[in-house]
Amino acid sequence: MTDAPFRVQPALDDDNRFFWTAGREGVLRMARCSQCRHWIHPPAPYCSECGGRDVAPSDLGGRGTVWSYTVNHHSWDGGTEPYVIVLVELDEQPGLRLTSNLVGCDPDQVTIGMPVRVTFEERDDIWYPLFEPAGST
Ligand SMILES: [Zn+2]
Repeated sequence: MTDAPFRVQPALDDDNRFFWTAGREGVLRMARCSQCRHWIHPPAPYCSECGGRDVAPSDLGGRGTVWSYTVNHHSWDGGTEPYVIVLVELDEQPGLRLTSNLVGCDPDQVTIGMPVRVTFEERDDIWYPLFEPAGST
């Protein structure tokens, strides 16, 4: 077993399966309206912007910035080091935000507005989209 933190396993259904399995192909994928091009997250079968029903999964670039964050010091599973919960605003659309964890970064180094990119952690055929600092390479 790895020392990765405990993760709540999402319940996959036809509306969100593409989101949790796109990491297999190394991409971040979200629902997008075919009419007004609005990105929709969490996944929904209709567009929150125009009400359109023509919504389909589409690939994102996987880059964004830290919109907000918190450092968790409580050890939920008995062994986890402090870890960073981030709210990332994706580059594609203002307000398109994803709650995740920041990895590969000292919790003391996180800042609002920090550029990040997606990385995936696979467990039981679910690819959790996590983020890491985008500035290093
Ligand atoms: Zn729309």
